[in-house]
Amino acid sequence: MQKQVTIIGSGIVGAVTAYYLSQNPDLNVTIYDEGIGQATKNSAGIISPWLSKRRNQRWYQLAKAGAALYPEIVADTQMGYSVYQQAGTIVTRADPDDLQALYDLALKRRQAAPQMGTIEKLTAEEVQERIPLLTAPQPGVFVSGGARVDGDKFAHNLLKYAEKRNLVRHKGKVRLGDQGQLLTVNGQQSYDTLILAVGAWLKPLLLPMKIVADVRPQKGQLIEMQLPETWADDVPVLMPEGERDFIPFTRSKLVVGATHENDQGYDLQVSSLVEDDLFASGLKLDANLTKDQITQVKVGTRAYTRDFAPFFGPIPDNPHILVASGLGSSGLTTGPMIGKLLADYVQTGAHDWDQYQRPIETYLAPAD
Ligand SMILES: Cc1cc2nc3c(=O)[nH]c(=O)nc-3n(C[C@H](O)[C@H](O)[C@H](O)COP(=O)(O)OP(=O)(O)OC[C@H]3O[C@@H](n4cnc5c(N)ncnc54)[C@H](O)[C@@H]3O)c2cc1C
Repeated sequence: MQKQVTIIGSGIVGAVTAYYLSQNPDLNVTIYDEGIGQATKNSAGIISPWLSKRRNQRWYQLAKAGAALYPEIVADTQMGYSVYQQAGTIVTRADPDDLQALYDLALKRRQAAPQMGTIEKLTAEEVQERIPLLTAPQPGVFVSGGARVDGDKFAHNLLKYAEKRNLVRHKGKVRLGDQGQLLTVNGQQSYDTLILAVGAWLKPLLLPMKIVADVRPQKGQLIEMQLPETWADDVPVLMPEGERDFIPFTRSKLVVGATHENDQGYDLQVSSLVEDDLFASGLKLDANLTKDQITQVKVGTRAYTRDFAPFFGPIPDNPHILVASGLGSSGLTTGPMIGKLLADYVQTGAHDWDQYQRPIETYLAPAD
């Protein structure tokens, strides 16, 4: 008898989970997605966790493992450079001591993360050679294993891949009953395992079950530009000190972003003030940018927890309902590993995840 696994949310977590589950012919997998505000669709796309200042070791293990999964998944599903490429990342530092400290950190971290690849300390001129668009380059550290991903296309491709196997997709918002019943526009649906990969929307979804999730929404905006110049496919991503990130994609597409707005709730309105601010940030790096090159402003909602760490797994006292949320601003990086671990759990029941997260009760509490 085939098992029914139902996933709510088709962002990076839902899509990667579906991808791994699609390799098991004994499962029927269904995804529901409302399709509004998705962080994955509106993300910048930097995969480069190794030089982060974050001290959370569990997050780092998860992010490192997630970054390492991309090449495997991309090769298996044959995605091209417009979706994902390890073009490298450059993190800049104006102060020579800070630059040296960053370089030393990179060398140290590479010992346990060979996927970082080649590490080089670059002068400002060398940075400009790698990213010819820059008119005001600074010295930086280059990590060849860093990558850029188009989150929207990546998730879309995984879902298409899974649809050819055992996945059925539905558009629409779902609700839960007080016992975890799955309520859709077509009535109540049964499941053997339910996976709530709903990002910033976990708290409202779980409330009928009298569970309070420690998740709050954060608005993020970025600008996408189409430039007249062409550049090689392997131009690295720039993570400048104190400025917005600068991500040259293929086909002359440049992304500048992103904002972290904690006081806007689930708002998805484009703010022209923010657009101006993002453009000004881009202009400091490339003085030739013009405003009419902006093709769109993207807005997404990230999920944050109190300690900025993601959480995932079965909810307390209910092994049939899994959650994943709180991926914050690095969810494209941690998301693949979370999706893989959830898919492993569905198939084996294994969840020895202490190295990746604090106990799930840290983030899920009974409502009063
Ligand atoms: C502007 C911006 C830039 C970013 N840049 C980066 C970056 O460079 N690198 C990086 O690693 N990360 C980045 N991130 C973070 C990353 O995008 C997110 O952490 C990650 O995509 C979250 O994935 P998710 O699957 O948890 O949630 P989401 O992608 O938000 O997906 C959740 C889905 O669930 C659906 N849903 C919710 N409730 C329901 C319901 N009741 N019924 C049906 N469907 C429902 C939603 O509509 C949504 O489609 C960025 C995010 C933003 C917003």
